[in-house]
Amino acid sequence: MAIITTKPKGTQDLLPADSHKWQFVESVVTEEAKKSGFSMLRTPMFEHTELFLRGVGDTTDIVNKEMYTFLDKGDRSITLRPEGTAGALRAAIENGLVHEALPVRIYYLGPCFRYEKPQAGRFRQFHQFGVELLGPAGYAADCETMSLGVRILRRLGLQNVSLQINSIGCKNCRADYQAALVAYFDQHKDQLCETCIERLGKNPMRILDCKCPTCQALAKDAPTNLEYLCDDCKTEFEHVKSQLQALQIPYVINERIVRGLDYYTRTVFEFVTGELGAQSAVGGGGRYNGLVADLGGPDLPGVGFAMGMERLVMLMEKQNAPFPEKEVCEVCFIPMGEQAVQKSAVLAARLREEGFAAEYDLMGRSVKAQMKYANRIGAKYTLVLGDNELAAGQANLKDMAGGEETAVPLTEEGLLEVLYQKNIDRMFGDIAEAAEQMNSQGE
Ligand code: AMP
Repeated sequence: MAIITTKPKGTQDLLPADSHKWQFVESVVTEEAKKSGFSMLRTPMFEHTELFLRGVGDTTDIVNKEMYTFLDKGDRSITLRPEGTAGALRAAIENGLVHEALPVRIYYLGPCFRYEKPQAGRFRQFHQFGVELLGPAGYAADCETMSLGVRILRRLGLQNVSLQINSIGCKNCRADYQAALVAYFDQHKDQLCETCIERLGKNPMRILDCKCPTCQALAKDAPTNLEYLCDDCKTEFEHVKSQLQALQIPYVINERIVRGLDYYTRTVFEFVTGELGAQSAVGGGGRYNGLVADLGGPDLPGVGFAMGMERLVMLMEKQNAPFPEKEVCEVCFIPMGEQAVQKSAVLAARLREEGFAAEYDLMGRSVKAQMKYANRIGAKYTLVLGDNELAAGQANLKDMAGGEETAVPLTEEGLLEVLYQKNIDRMFGDIAEAAEQMNSQGE
C-alpha cells in the first residue's frame, strides 16, 4: 500500500464509529478527577530531551530505548513525551504552581510516544490520563490517588482489575537493597543483556523491569525489597494498607512491582488485568518524593498515576462494559428542492439550539436515497419536505421505528412542541416498561 495512505507502525486512527467510546472514557476520567479537586493541565507534546533524562532516568528502558528524539531546526534536542509526569512537574515548577496553595492537584490527558515493539495493547503513540498530587508526604495522599483510580475503573464498569501495591523504600533503605541486587545479579552476569550489565553498575533496580526474556527470568528469583525497608518505610507501608482497608479497597501486595521509571520512592502500584494478554497493566503510579527538587523546584513530595486510555477502552470492549449510545439524530429532514433545503436548514438550526440532533440532505439526493440514509444513521424521525408541504405549512413526522406519522406544523415552535410531547410520551413509556419488568421479576 502506498506510504501516504498507510499510518506509521504502532499508531492508530480513532474512527467515527468508535469515537463515542473514547469520549465516554474521557468524560468519566475527567469528571472523577474534578470531583477529587484536580484541575486540568495541558503541556506540550514535546519537551527538551534533558527533562526526560533527568525526570524519567537515564538508565530506564524508556530513555535508553524508546524515546522519539530529534534535533529541531535550531539544533535543540527535542523529545516527544514518553509519559506525562515529567512535563506536568516541569510546568508546575515553571509556572509557580508549586508556590501556590498546597496541595497542587493536576490531571492531564493526551498522547505519549514510545518506540516500542507494537503488539496488542502496546502502541508507539498511545494516550495517558494521569494525575499528580504535589505537597503531601504521607500515606493518605497515596491512598487518595489510588482510590481515584479505583473509582474510575468502577465507573467504567470494569471487573477483575486488581490493585497491586508495593513499597520500594526511600533513599536510606534502598542502598542495602541495591547491594543485595548487585550481589545476586553479579552471579548471573553472563546471562544479562548488554544494557543490564551497564545497569548493574549504575542502577540495578532497572534490571527488574528489563523486557529481555533472560533478564526477566533472572529477575523472578532476585531478592525483593520489602525485607530491606527501613523502619519508617515499613510503618508507612502498614499505614497505606490499613487506609486502603478503611476505604474498602481490595489490594494485593506484589513485590515484583518496581515501575519502569527512576523517580519512584516508597509506595508504587499498578492496576492489573489478566484479560489483555501480555499487556497486563491498565495503569500505574506511585510516590516520587525527590522528583520536584531534582527538576529544579522546591523540595516538594508528590504522588500520581497514569492510565492508558487504549487499554481502558479495549478492556471495556472485552468485558462488554456498557458504553452510552452514540448521539442519535432526532429528526432527519428529507427536503426536495432548494426551498425545502432552506426550510430544513432553518428548522434544524432551531432544533439544535434546543439540544436535539438534526440533519438534512446536502447531497441533492432522491427521497428514496435520503430515506435510506436516514435509516442508516438510525434517525428517530424523518420529515419529508416538498413543494406541497411547504405550500400547506404542514408535513408528516415519521417515527422510523414504529412507522406511524404525525402531522406537524412547519414552524419552529410547532415542530418543537410535537417533539417535546413525543419525548415525554417515550419517557413515560420507558418508565412503565421498567415498572412492568420489576413487577414480573418480583412475582
Ligand atoms: P507506565 O508509566 O509506563 O506504567 O504507563 C502507564 C500506563 O500507560 C500503563 O499502565 C499503560 O496502561 C499505558 N501504556 C504505557 N505504555 C503504553 C504503550 N506503549 N501502549 C499503550 N499503552 C501504554
